[in-house]
Amino acid sequence: MDFFKNLKDIYRKVSEVEDTIYHEKQDYLEIYERNLELEKEIEERTKELNIANKRMLTLQHIWDMMNASRPLQSVLETIVNSIQGELGYLHCNIIKKCKDETGYYMTVLAQSNDISIKRVEQLIKIPFQVRRLVYSSNNIYSETENKKEICQTLDIGGTLKTVAPDVSDETLKEIIDGSKAKSIICIPLFTRNSYFGWFNVFSSRDELSSGETDFLTMFAQQIEMAITIADLFESVKAQAVTDSLTGLYNRRYFEEYLKKEVTRALRQKQPFSVIGLDLDHLKQINDKYGHAYGDLAIKTVAEVLKKNARSIDTAARMGGEEFNLILPGVDSKGAMIAAERIRRALELEKLDTIDHVTASVGVATFLEHSDNIEDIMELTDQAMYQSKRHGRNRVTLAKPIAETSWQEIAINTFIDILSEHNIPIEKDKANEFKNKLKNTETDALYTVADMLTQVYNPLHHSGVMKSKVLLAVSLAKRFDLPKEDIDNLRIAMLLYDIGNLMLPQELLQKSTPLTDEERNHIQEHPIIAAREILKPISDIQDIIPIIEHHHENWDGTGYPEKLAKEEIPMTSQIILIVDAYYALIEPRTYRAELTPSQAIEVIKQDSGKKWNSALVQEFITLIDIDS
Ligand code: GH3
Ligand code: MG
Repeated sequence: MDFFKNLKDIYRKVSEVEDTIYHEKQDYLEIYERNLELEKEIEERTKELNIANKRMLTLQHIWDMMNASRPLQSVLETIVNSIQGELGYLHCNIIKKCKDETGYYMTVLAQSNDISIKRVEQLIKIPFQVRRLVYSSNNIYSETENKKEICQTLDIGGTLKTVAPDVSDETLKEIIDGSKAKSIICIPLFTRNSYFGWFNVFSSRDELSSGETDFLTMFAQQIEMAITIADLFESVKAQAVTDSLTGLYNRRYFEEYLKKEVTRALRQKQPFSVIGLDLDHLKQINDKYGHAYGDLAIKTVAEVLKKNARSIDTAARMGGEEFNLILPGVDSKGAMIAAERIRRALELEKLDTIDHVTASVGVATFLEHSDNIEDIMELTDQAMYQSKRHGRNRVTLAKPIAETSWQEIAINTFIDILSEHNIPIEKDKANEFKNKLKNTETDALYTVADMLTQVYNPLHHSGVMKSKVLLAVSLAKRFDLPKEDIDNLRIAMLLYDIGNLMLPQELLQKSTPLTDEERNHIQEHPIIAAREILKPISDIQDIIPIIEHHHENWDGTGYPEKLAKEEIPMTSQIILIVDAYYALIEPRTYRAELTPSQAIEVIKQDSGKKWNSALVQEFITLIDIDS
């Protein structure tokens, strides 16, 4: 009995054990399956995490770039390239909606630089970025704009056709056939509450998941932010009042401030002075040491200006290497002292590598030199240029407008001409003449004009220039010419043959008869040359036409324009007769000199032809008195 009982017990236990084993096996299988599921889930999550990470990195990249305040174009280009490359789209671009008088159109602002676009652009010839794309009311773009939400189209060919209708159907087919793109996804772009355009991606898939919609929207927001920041940056820049290199006020501020200062000065009847300063030889500094040292020179000027200005003075960088300082309540005497102090301080400044720099300075005073601010700025500039001409690193006070005499204009003109490199005159000689002109000795102007004439005409007598000018002026006075015309005539008398400097010596000195071609050359060339030489000199623009017409004859047979009678400026007529007379009484290589009465006889013969007979009459009486 016991045996069976025991056996039963054993069976029961075995079955209990079996039961337990079975259950544990079940548990184990369950755990195993759960494990497999978990692993799968982990793998999927890791994948998602990687994608999210990639998107985050792309966003981070874009964000960094926006912070580096790069130009908008470059920011947008980096955005489209990042999105295309890192997120695996075939192509990506940003299109702007534009408007002009003919209506709406679209332009591609930025596009990713990928193989698919390269292939398409080869086929369509004109690249998208230089095309004016058609804005149509029935394509994905208008749909996106109207719905204000992300849209997708599978009709890539149709879309292309609407924006670029000039592309032929065959080309379109070739584009589509060779493309992996299945859809265009288009995201609307808004900036500061206005519609800006579209952000497009060309996808190799035809579906659009909600996750994709989310992150594309996120990128669109980045683009919108980049555009808004660039816009803000531009408007802030436009409102800026200081110059970024020097910290001085900029031209915009200076001009606004100047208006206020003028009003104040007029109301209080108090002068103010303008100091204009231009760095000397900055170009050479740039060329020799590099742009960074040129910048250093500019910054040094700014520092010197700041240190030497009073708190009520206003210093501005007008642009490049040009600075202005306004000294309220300061007359020209005070301004000259201040300007000299600044010039000196700059000269003493020791700079890295370039050692030292200098500047040329001009000074003008409102209510003293003029009560017109444009004139004051012009006078400051002229005075500054005077400093340049007289050797740089110096200060010049402006001349009141009315007092800028014809002599000064003439002297400055000669200095300008002699400083030009294209005048065929030896450097030493040019310097000698320039020094003479700067010496302000009486008659220096005539002496230099005589010496210059002798450069191309060795037979020219010294002293003749002055006589010629005086004779011309006497004649002009007989015809009651206004002072302004007479002053212009004086300058024109000194300059009318300056173009001879440009003629070949052998031609001018030729003793045998001239060929027609040579005569033509001698006749026309000096006038052309004179005009070319004088054209860049702003103070003598009224003189150029007088010189141009000093070979026109009364009967219209002269040159260069065959003007006749009153068409010819009176001043030009006077030059012609005085010139002819002096030519006749001077010796030439091809003939001896004539006596004054012989010369008068020659002139009389052409009365009514070459010259107006009234002019000849007056001329004869003048010579009678003179001789
Ligand atoms: P001058 O004594 O006759 O004034 O000779 P210059 O060489 O100073 O004058 P020029 O007008 O011939 O040349 C001015 C140069 O200044 C040319 C331009 O490149 C340079 N420049 C203008 N702005 C800047 C700037 O912000 N930085 C630097 N480094 N150079 C500048
Ligand atoms: Mg300069």
